Amino acid sequence: METLDKKDLERFKRIITEKHSALCEELRYREQSSIKENQRETGAELSSYANHPAEAASDYANLTMNLNLAERDSKYLVQLADALDRIEQGTYGICVVCRKLIPMVRLEAVPTATKCIECKHEVKKREQEEAKR
Ligand SMILES: [Zn+2]
Repeated sequence: METLDKKDLERFKRIITEKHSALCEELRYREQSSIKENQRETGAELSSYANHPAEAASDYANLTMNLNLAERDSKYLVQLADALDRIEQGTYGICVVCRKLIPMVRLEAVPTATKCIECKHEVKKREQEEAKR
């Protein structure tokens, strides 16, 4: 089975490790500032929401947006950790479907890619067809 060069693996390992720790940091920072935010809000007057329904609605929108963001980020964090696992196991850069090497340009654009473009399209097409049923 074909694999990536050791040199390339090392390079991707560095890129992914950096992304991973930057995102960890970011999530931790965001968590801390939202705790502070909550503490500040519990200190605020309880009646303020009742007086400003529009404000409450926009707070809710912000909250949902933050949750969506957090969900997306934590998914990405898992993908990065998975990619590091695959580097350790020597399966990084190999398409999980057709077992061929994923082109370098694709890995450079999407370091967490687990499929080559062809297989990705194939899987997506199948998913869309299944969704139609
Ligand atoms: Zn493939």
